[in-house]
Parts: sequence; structure tokens; C-alpha cells
Amino acid sequence: MLFGLLHLSFWGYVIATLLLTHITVISVSLYLHRTQAHRAMDLHPIVSHFFRFWLWFTTSMRTKEWVAIHRKHHAKCETAEDPHSPVVLGIKKVFWQGAELYGEAKTPETLERYGHGCPDDWIERNIYSAPYMNKLGISIMFVLDLVLFGIPGVTIWALQMIWIPLFAAGIINGIGHYWGYRNFECPDAARNVVPWSIITVGEELHNNHHTFGSSAKFSVKWWEFDLGWLYISLLRAVGLVKIRKTIPELQTIPGKRIIDVDTLKAFITNRFQIMSTYANEVILPVVEREKKQLSSNGRSLLAKAKVLLVRDTSLVTPEGRNALSQLLKERVQLNLVYEYRMKLQAIWDKTTASQKELLDALQDWCSQAEATGVDVLRQFAARLRGFSATTTL
Ligand SMILES: [Zn+2]
Ligand SMILES: [Zn+2]
Repeated sequence: MLFGLLHLSFWGYVIATLLLTHITVISVSLYLHRTQAHRAMDLHPIVSHFFRFWLWFTTSMRTKEWVAIHRKHHAKCETAEDPHSPVVLGIKKVFWQGAELYGEAKTPETLERYGHGCPDDWIERNIYSAPYMNKLGISIMFVLDLVLFGIPGVTIWALQMIWIPLFAAGIINGIGHYWGYRNFECPDAARNVVPWSIITVGEELHNNHHTFGSSAKFSVKWWEFDLGWLYISLLRAVGLVKIRKTIPELQTIPGKRIIDVDTLKAFITNRFQIMSTYANEVILPVVEREKKQLSSNGRSLLAKAKVLLVRDTSLVTPEGRNALSQLLKERVQLNLVYEYRMKLQAIWDKTTASQKELLDALQDWCSQAEATGVDVLRQFAARLRGFSATTTL
């Protein structure tokens, strides 16, 4: 009885713990995050209810609270109203006290404003979200762990309880806004922690996710791996999930020179891919060239201003902004490619313009960029003419 009904070996306990916590992480990612918070897909009611049950059974988290706090995080990202921003609150607080921040943030106003559309049936009101009954699941889980695994079951249960606070609240909400690489220049600080991970099932691709919030799939590059998407694809193969949205793909038609409605559609839906292409193929090559000619003072200005050359962000200090304006005054070519980036951005910001006006603006941008004679700008303009919109699910 000391080692429970299953009487496993040490590795048996390790595998059991990993398996139990893995199902919980899948429930958070596929059900709470991708389905409920972002409506990126529709799960079959049986699958959906399994995840609801499992979250009650192993975490006692309430769907509406999780969803409201998460939507607020996206809506108010890196501001004082963001429930868990390491930029505002500091990485230590979000990493170590990430789960407590959820408690602080679940005010009635937050739940009312951001928690709409979550399950509100009998079982939700009377069991999953009800006071006391809400904790019944984890209590049964404790007894079950004890019966199945014996004394080691206490450790397994404790690990189950800290798994989500550590990996979801701490690592994704903390590190995911602090450390890692960026594919896209979304306005907040979100980063891809690593290109693939088994433990966090794709949630580590946080920069991709913040850029394309309503996409069910988080990986973008061929070398990135979203384990959650693999599970979604398996569920989809047997008809248990319907995908609503994924990341738009930017297609290029070789030799296409005319800017038409298709080009415009691609331009509008692929804003972040286009800005990232512009940064990689226009700004950064010019930065590299200029670097060689800069004095040590110029280089230090560049280091401070580099982030502003590729994106507009409120996360840069006034010192960074001063460095940028000083640098742009001195370096003609850098100023030119920066100016063209701003002009391109201005086209996206013409929200009230007609289709004809947008087409003309894009046409003008390309013609003027080609006329500058700067090789990288010319090549980019030629590439932009070939863009085409295709949606693949
Ligand atoms: Zn985030
Ligand atoms: Zn999200």
C-alpha cells in the first residue's frame, strides 16, 4: 500500500507525472487559450468537455477567469493595466508570483469586460466554478494519486499543482515577454522562448502568437515546431475540431509586376510578414554597411536606436529616440530606408481610404522606392509587386 495500487518503478512515477501534467498543459493550450480566449477553433463538445473536466480535476482553474485575464493581457499588453507584464512589473515578480497575479486581476469589471462567451451551463455554475465545489476536483485527484501511487503520489500531486503556475504563468507570461527571439515586430515585447518544446506544447512561440493572436497555429518558420498544432491536426483528421483561423501565408508570384487587388489583399493581411521582410532585407543590410563607416560614437548611437529602426514601440527610452534622430541626421542612406519604412507603414494606417487610394499609394511607394537607386529598396519594391494573397488552412 505504501507504493500504491500501481506499484511503479522510479521511472514509472516520472513518466506518470509527465503524462498527467502534459494532459493539463494540452487542456490549457487547446481549450482555454486557443479555443476559449482567442476563438481560433471550435472543439467538438466531447473533447471540449473532457478538457473542462480535466482542468477542474487537476488545477481548479475557472475558464471565465483564465480567459478574461488572458484577453486583458492581449488588449493592454505591457501597460500598467496588463495583468502580468514583466516589462511593467519586473521579470522576478511575473516569474515567481505569476499565478498570484491571476488572483489579483480577477476583478468583477475584468470578468465582465473580457470574460464573455465562456461556458455558463449547470455544471459550470454548480460544480466547476462554484465555491468549494471548484476545489473538489483537486481533492479527489489527491486521493486518487495516493491510492494509485502511494506515498510518492503526494509528490506527484504537488507537482501537478505547481506545473501550470510554473510553466504557464511563470515561463510563458514572464520569459515569453522578456527573453528569446522575435520573428515579428509586434508592438509589445513578446518573444519566442525557443523554437520547439514538448513541455509547453507550442505556447513558447509567444512572439508569433502575439503577432497573430487569432491563429490556431503558433509556428511560422519551417524549423519551428508547435506540438499543440500537431494534436490539433490529429483531432482535425478525425473530425473533432474545426479551425477558424491560422496565420496568413505570404505568397510571391515570380515575374508579377502589376500591383492589383490581389497584391493589395496580400499587403493588408500580411502586414507583419512584410514588415519583417523589410527589416531583414532592407534595414539590416544597410545597417551592416553603415556600421563599417561609423565612428565609435556612431556605433553606440546605433546600438541604442536599432530597435526603433525596425519597429515603433513605446518600450524604448527617450534616450533611444534621441539616438535615432541624431543618427538619421548623419547617415543619409539609413535615413532613406527608415523614411521608406514609415511611408509604407502610413499606407496601412490609412484606415478610411478607398481601395483605389490604397492601390495608388502602394503603386507610388514602389515607383519612388525603385527611383531612389538604392539596391535593397529596388529589390524589395520588385518583390512587393509580386505578392499574392492565398489563404491555406
Ligand atoms: Zn503574452
Ligand atoms: Zn493569447
